[in-house]
Amino acid sequence: MPCDVSVVPCGSYDEQEVESALRAVLESIDGLAFVQPGMHVAVKLNLVAPMKPDTAATVHPALVCALVKLLRERGAEVVLGDSPGGVYSAAYLHLVYETCGIRRAEDWGAQLNEDFSQEEVDFPEAVQARHFPYTAYLGKADAIIDLCKLKTHGMMGLTGAVKNFFGSIPGTKKPEFHYRYPRAEDFANVLVDLYEYSKPRLCICDGVIGMEGNGPTQGTPRKIGCLLASQNGHALDLAAASLIGLGVQDVPTLRAAVERGLVPSQVSALSVSGDLASFRVPDFKTVPSQSNVAFMIFGSGPLGKLANAVGARILTPFPKLSPELCVGCGKCAATCPAKAITMVKKKPRIHRGKCIHCFCCQEFCPKGAMQVGRHLIPRLLGK
Ligand code: SF4
Ligand code: SF4
Repeated sequence: MPCDVSVVPCGSYDEQEVESALRAVLESIDGLAFVQPGMHVAVKLNLVAPMKPDTAATVHPALVCALVKLLRERGAEVVLGDSPGGVYSAAYLHLVYETCGIRRAEDWGAQLNEDFSQEEVDFPEAVQARHFPYTAYLGKADAIIDLCKLKTHGMMGLTGAVKNFFGSIPGTKKPEFHYRYPRAEDFANVLVDLYEYSKPRLCICDGVIGMEGNGPTQGTPRKIGCLLASQNGHALDLAAASLIGLGVQDVPTLRAAVERGLVPSQVSALSVSGDLASFRVPDFKTVPSQSNVAFMIFGSGPLGKLANAVGARILTPFPKLSPELCVGCGKCAATCPAKAITMVKKKPRIHRGKCIHCFCCQEFCPKGAMQVGRHLIPRLLGK
């Protein structure tokens, strides 16, 4: 019986070690069997921002190069791309490619995506995103491979295979999505829709050095020491989440996938090749995600609704400023889709009533000054 997820050890980004680990992790799922000579394969990277490889914010170039090498061996034409937050333009993406070290992959025969056009697509089967703008290079490919990074995420708990497809939306259009779908459950369903629309043939996760704490950009690199692969991104995310102490209840995209019957609710129900448990990092620092604590526990009458609203407010994490780290650059205010931040005397002031808890300010703060805060009660409850 084919397995759902494959995991192998990979202790460093030494090129030879990464290449042999990648061959091994793909072998047990026959991961590249679909690749035919002349096929145009788009690899959707996680290049969240122009950040150096040692920050662990983006997929490591050694893994990207190894994958390109394997695809070229099979005769594929390979294009590498992403659309991080911000302008989707040649100037910005060249800065991203350069800083993230991805240019090295050109030596192995890959093209870095230069097509910054977008197309409007319809996806009638979607739960939320039935019509959306889409980065055209993905739409033009014969097949897509999802190359993601194991990191924490302020809004979704985990960045992995499914969250990676928010990068199929052109950067400047992303705030609209946050604004249209402020509830974590709805936004998670948008991400699942984008993943299901893209239908990558293969998902690979860079779990050599992950990111813990204030992810997805300002957390701390943390060794996990493995590569994971699967033809099912939801299964890959379930396995990856288990390594850092998260379950379905902590990751809204996994909850949405379970509800749609795309993945089992327990990692124990997956068929895994490799010793998944041996890569668990018990003290991995996660971020409090949008908890799924039942908001209907107080009933649906007027008093119950009020209690539920108060409960939801108390349980929901919020953006929290560390003033000593803030340099007053204003990027948080410029990024906020809800216009909930104003700069006052070179410090951001958050209007709590307007905040939709998307954590774009946390993701794009270059100094890690914006973090994920929790109220006292969920901290005491360990939520
Ligand atoms: S983006 Fe970060 S450093 Fe810049 S003003 Fe906002 S909190 Fe301060
Ligand atoms: S303040 Fe931060 S978390 Fe709140 S809506 Fe703005 S960007 Fe999102």
